[in-house]
Amino acid sequence: MKVLVPVKRVIDYNVKARVKPDGSGVDLANVKMSMNPFGEIAVEEAVRLKEKGVVSEIVVVSIGPTQAQETIRTALAMGADRGILIQTDEAVEPLSVAKLLKAVVEEEKPELAILGKQAIDDDANQTGQMLAALLDWPQGTFASELEIADGKAKITREIDGGLQTLAVELPAVITTDLRLNEPRYASLPNIMKAKRKPIDMKTPDDYGVALETRLEQIKVEEPPKRQAGVIVESVTELVDKLKNEAGVI
Ligand code: AMP
Repeated sequence: MKVLVPVKRVIDYNVKARVKPDGSGVDLANVKMSMNPFGEIAVEEAVRLKEKGVVSEIVVVSIGPTQAQETIRTALAMGADRGILIQTDEAVEPLSVAKLLKAVVEEEKPELAILGKQAIDDDANQTGQMLAALLDWPQGTFASELEIADGKAKITREIDGGLQTLAVELPAVITTDLRLNEPRYASLPNIMKAKRKPIDMKTPDDYGVALETRLEQIKVEEPPKRQAGVIVESVTELVDKLKNEAGVI
């Protein structure tokens, strides 16, 4: 069984994002970029399925600038088999990503697409759902457990107040939640091996997809600065402040 894992190159989750002075977006100049953490979880899950003998090939795809090759290499070092980079320097919206992924699915014919539930840059949380709709495949979003057997995927999802378990027929789209697994670090020998794994270089034109923009970003603002805390002398003072200053009790 072949699995497709789309991974996005995003601002590293440890970096404190700086907003451009004109409020037009986040300043990405000289900022560390990495694989979207939910994408790492998706790659890890695919690699575990391969280790269990359920999956025979893992194809990783990224849509982004030339540097997204590094993101693909990271996935190859974790255990994916080959990569596809759909190169573009434009910001690509979820619907365009989903259309490109649909075209890749039609070419590669995987039985499973495992995506992150959201990319931590725009927090859109749309691509997996849109891809499932475009392909008319069933979807299991926010998976915190995944089991593949008898042509079906069993997905456990964390929902308000408990867990929901779904069974969907393959082929299907799955999106990963944080608790699905803990991604491995690539070992040095695997990083070296990944250098020899193939990455196909493509463009959106190769798939006949025009990158339309439908969203207009009006303004990006930093969150309000937190005020400095105070050290109280006693519990009585704390209770007094909570009651009379903060008004929370
Ligand atoms: P989003 O809908 O943008 O929050 O992204 C959800 C998931 O879609 C990500 O975790 C990736 O698996 C996939 N995805 C989104 N954008 C891209 C991209 N540019 N390249 C590859 N995969 C992407």
